Amino acid sequence: MWFYNTGKTFLERLQHGEDLYLSIKNTFTHSGIKMGVFMAIGAVKHATIAFYDQKERIYKNHFIDEPAEILSCVGNVSEVEGEVSIHAHITLGLRDGTAKGGHLIEGTTLFACELFGIELEGEQLKRIYDDITGLKLWGF
Ligand code: ZN
Repeated sequence: MWFYNTGKTFLERLQHGEDLYLSIKNTFTHSGIKMGVFMAIGAVKHATIAFYDQKERIYKNHFIDEPAEILSCVGNVSEVEGEVSIHAHITLGLRDGTAKGGHLIEGTTLFACELFGIELEGEQLKRIYDDITGLKLWGF
């Protein structure tokens, strides 16, 4: 377990037409925040989400080609090979009231979005490759 202090907290209105994943990443990068947590709500025009296949050890992408509500998007910010890395999951509400979800990756176009972020202060958390899962997990 790692303990951190909280630094700045912020709210940001992400812009219509932007890519959700990149917009979150840019918001943290431009604020100089390399470690933190966030949540977001809003709506998208269409989305790309991914499911990690544990046997094949690859992400399988799903394209959702319709407007949807961002019921919940939560994630964290750490570092991979010196770069800010966003790890986020998203749940989307569709017109018929059903929900779909997965990893947030590039390819989700915003209709509107409100982001709440919290900076974490302390030793920089990094992601390193984990042999057991095939994922880049927290470590130092
Ligand atoms: Zn994940």
